[in-house]
Amino acid sequence: MSDSTSQLNPRLRGMSGFIQRRRELPVTAYVEGILSGDRVMLSRAITLIESTLPAHREKAIQIIDACMPHRVSSFRVGITGPPGVGKSTFIEVLGQLAGSHGRRLAVLAVDPSSMVSQGSILGDKTRMERLSAADYAYIRPSPAGSTLGGVAGMTRETIILCEAAGYDLLFVETVGVGQSELAVHNMVDFFLLLLLPGAGDELQGIKRGIVEMADLLVVNKADGDGAAAAMRACVAYRNAIHLFPARENGWETAVNTCSAATGAGIPEIWHQLMAFQEHTLANGSFADRRRMQVLSWLEDSVQSSLRMHFNRHPMVKALRPELEALILSGKISPVLAAERLLKAYRGEA
Ligand code: GDP
Repeated sequence: MSDSTSQLNPRLRGMSGFIQRRRELPVTAYVEGILSGDRVMLSRAITLIESTLPAHREKAIQIIDACMPHRVSSFRVGITGPPGVGKSTFIEVLGQLAGSHGRRLAVLAVDPSSMVSQGSILGDKTRMERLSAADYAYIRPSPAGSTLGGVAGMTRETIILCEAAGYDLLFVETVGVGQSELAVHNMVDFFLLLLLPGAGDELQGIKRGIVEMADLLVVNKADGDGAAAAMRACVAYRNAIHLFPARENGWETAVNTCSAATGAGIPEIWHQLMAFQEHTLANGSFADRRRMQVLSWLEDSVQSSLRMHFNRHPMVKALRPELEALILSGKISPVLAAERLLKAYRGEA
């Protein structure tokens, strides 16, 4: 709530004061709320994760840590594809199928575009209407963050809280714009790429590396006039992935078609998801992938934490403008400037 709003309406100021007090709940209150499946507390804890205030960060870390041992075993699915391919329509139907199988689903998003627009791909309430209203589903819009690393880190942490709240299936949606797929791939068990019929990878803005990372390719909109084109695209992708090196986990990436609009092909995709989980749990690669991911989470957390401390350090802040001017006037190199900043950070300058 902006200050101007609260000046206009004293009752709102009172409300904002109330919200302020509500934020000061102890860690145990958040944790108990989350563990009992209280969505309001879950949302409020996620808001702490998304906060940039150091005091909130500290609290968020304690909440995450307390939630870790209470997570239900889960299946994390990344869903990506170019804008307009039908991701939200697809998530809506696949999510309902999951719900009918008794799964509790959390839908999260990694959306770097929201850094620019401060909007969010899941923010639009008209998307996923049925899932939003379903009691087995929890939908959280993409956080607005300053960096992809920041947004990805928050999503990882949010996953933990959702699992502690009993959500055993996670869909992490990302828009196909390059870097975000990699970040999401690094936090999920299964990576699903949605494709449009009748357009090559380049036209869809999909990099080859993204296709190689996918555990399942799905050509959506295989209905009406699009059915034949979807089938052709499916065959072309099957031929293409045949040339990819075999996967370490022994899984053979399949190419399916579906129509999120009619629901055709959706049960087969659910079946693929379940088959993958069974396969990778049995051969140990599921646990291996999670182990790798948890270590890279450590690495990323260290890096982002260091960067934050560094940028907030008073000596670094004081020295930076001068060094930037020297770099821009060609007097010193960025490497030397970086060295000086680090010395200042270490208290050596
Ligand atoms: P997103 O941007 O990837 O989330 O895509 P949306 O789910 O918002 O869908 C984009 C447009 O494609 C909407 O107009 C949908 O109604 C439409 N759409 C989604 N899935 C299908 C499908 O299977 N068949 C057809 N014909 N249209 C679809």
